[in-house]
Amino acid sequence: METIVELSRKYGINAEYASAAFYPVFREGLAGARVLVLSDGNTRRYADPFAAQLADRGIAADSFVLPSCEPVADETACAAVEERAKEGYGYVLAVGAGTLNDIAKYVTFRLGLPCGVLATAASMDGYASGVTPLIRNGFKVTENAHTVRDILFDMDILRDAPRIMTGAGVGDILAKFCCLTDWKLSSLLTGEPLNADAMALMRDALDGCVASLPNIRAGGVAGLNDLMRALLVSGYAMVIAGNSRPASGAEHHMSHFLEMDFLRRGKPIPLHGVKVGLGTLVSLHLYKRIAALAEEFEGKEIAAALAVPLPTPEWAAEQLAAFGCPTRFSEIGVPKNVFRDMLFNCYKIRDRFTIMTLYHERGLMEGAADELTDLFY
Ligand SMILES: [Zn+2]
Repeated sequence: METIVELSRKYGINAEYASAAFYPVFREGLAGARVLVLSDGNTRRYADPFAAQLADRGIAADSFVLPSCEPVADETACAAVEERAKEGYGYVLAVGAGTLNDIAKYVTFRLGLPCGVLATAASMDGYASGVTPLIRNGFKVTENAHTVRDILFDMDILRDAPRIMTGAGVGDILAKFCCLTDWKLSSLLTGEPLNADAMALMRDALDGCVASLPNIRAGGVAGLNDLMRALLVSGYAMVIAGNSRPASGAEHHMSHFLEMDFLRRGKPIPLHGVKVGLGTLVSLHLYKRIAALAEEFEGKEIAAALAVPLPTPEWAAEQLAAFGCPTRFSEIGVPKNVFRDMLFNCYKIRDRFTIMTLYHERGLMEGAADELTDLFY
């Protein structure tokens, strides 16, 4: 199996681990550019020493800290970073995970500058992605961006991340069971093309990560490395597929649906991987219950057969709970009516056939909603 470094190189990304040499490939690529080191109230403790280390090596670097501990990738944050980055910087390094990486990718894409990230948590699969989710006028939109040039890993930092963030990363990976199955379901029922290479790459990384769950729980370097590998592969599988099919299915639509609702209510948005992990439980249950349904409908046998190799939602819930991740939607502050609304309407979020679409097109959700509420709300 290729290492993160080898695999990333194929996709034009320098993945580099912390060492005594202090990221030589990253530094050489800077070619004298001034670096803006972007962080927030939480990650500043890694950003300031990093900027100092660069300065020690003769590289001009300034730290720019977003005022909040939980920044949102919205117009205000992007404008603030853009304004600062225009002051003669040639490279922006985000020190963080999802949000800071998204802001840096988007701003530098607009300014035509390279960017990179010093990963502070194995919490989501957007590190290697070339698009970026942003909040605009209170709505979630996906904007074009570019991929980062460098992804820097310091295992001491990743090990230090709150346990629930690692759990969120696990949730975003367990979701791939459902994403890949939704893709197969669509291919068999609607004729949507599959991409065998993207599927195989994602599947291998998923299996590797599942085999490593005890190591990930133990919080050691080996486990975090396997999780990080799967999170990066997810980005590369999307590049191969030319769309987000290998990494996003109904569970992601559920997460996006809820995110819009949190935004509308002006509430802080729970971690992406936490919401996706919850959606994964729902999707797994929707697949597993099909074989026992009394009604006959088109695609029933196909969906029931696809459900057989899937893990049970009980198993998945146990894995999430081991990281302190919630296993019920009520735990993250989703109102009950919003949960029900999500079950009936999240399939509309994208024109993409998933297990949720099957339930709606065959009129099966009425019969499933109470059961899902009992189990997961
Ligand atoms: Zn995701």
